Amino acid sequence: MPQRTSVLIVGSGPAGLTAAIYAARAQLSPIVIEGEPSSTTDQPGGQLMLTTDIENFPGFPDGIGGPELMAQLRAQADRFGADLRVTKVQKLDLSVRPFRAWLTEDEEPSIEADTVIIATGARSLMLGVPGEERLLSHGLSTCATCDGFFFRGQDIAVIGGGDSALEEALFLTRFASSVTIVHRRDSLRASKIMQERALTHAKIRFAWNTQVKEVLGEEKVTGLRVANTETGAEQILDVTGVFVAIGHVPNTSIVEGQLELEDNGYVKTFVGTATSVDGVFAAGDVQDHVYRQAITSAGSGCMAAIDAERWLEAHGH
Ligand code: NDP
Repeated sequence: MPQRTSVLIVGSGPAGLTAAIYAARAQLSPIVIEGEPSSTTDQPGGQLMLTTDIENFPGFPDGIGGPELMAQLRAQADRFGADLRVTKVQKLDLSVRPFRAWLTEDEEPSIEADTVIIATGARSLMLGVPGEERLLSHGLSTCATCDGFFFRGQDIAVIGGGDSALEEALFLTRFASSVTIVHRRDSLRASKIMQERALTHAKIRFAWNTQVKEVLGEEKVTGLRVANTETGAEQILDVTGVFVAIGHVPNTSIVEGQLELEDNGYVKTFVGTATSVDGVFAAGDVQDHVYRQAITSAGSGCMAAIDAERWLEAHGH
């Protein structure tokens, strides 16, 4: 028999766990499907598990480690009785009521839910070159707002040629001695205004037609091995920091075809966190391609729990 819940939360980043804290405190006994440790796209704790120090989450004047913050949020959700499960949602059916979720390959659903909060987050696209995975959080980052501060006085590289890369590069000039934008073509994809700012910035250089072959370093980044896309000639860039900014993708596979998505693939929300299906709410990076911060994600998780609670009340649950 499927287990019945009034609130099913999918995802355990700041959005999912904040929603869990609020829903649990509202006595809604939420079930939280956290994701699986083996996966880089939907691991428990989300993207903050990949960062080291977080210095911009209010309430922690001395900063806090990403995994430590997530452990605290999890403990807080647990304390109020959220049912936290380290597993994945295999399939979701949002076309019937109650909504149905499968955690196994069985024919019968594992959970039936009156409301669902989608908080599956987003993931950074990665280069897929040697050294990248090993040095993530050890000089290689996907978030300048999070980690830029740690690169004061250093020579660093930003990979990509879109608005994200240029925005990251411009932000990083506050800290770094120099920022080299490594782009695989000879023209940028970014908006004209961002191009103008980056092209005229004294601290920003460009490595055009350049592809990253390897991130160098054992414990910390010590350089980049790059190749010219036209000549194939290789060289080493002496940098101690690398920011990969080649785009993000929201984790929407379980709701594709069921919820309305924005043109860029993010879940579309209407009033508050309401999605195109009544009773289904979305919070955090899966519906936010603009701010993408732990605190905004947590804020929208809170909104989703309140929206779900009000929905349940309005529908006589
Ligand atoms: P984009 O898809 O716009 O750009 C990605 C960049 O990364 C491209 O230059 C692309 O190269 C490069 N790239 C992709 N894959 C690889 C790879 N494997 N190796 C090397 N380079 C790679 O993503 P963004 O995140 O920059 O932007 C996404 C959207 O968000 C855009 O619409 C953007 O305008 C918007 N945005 C707006 C901002 C603002 O207005 N302030 C800030 C950030 C984003 P190539 O050009 O060759 O394809």
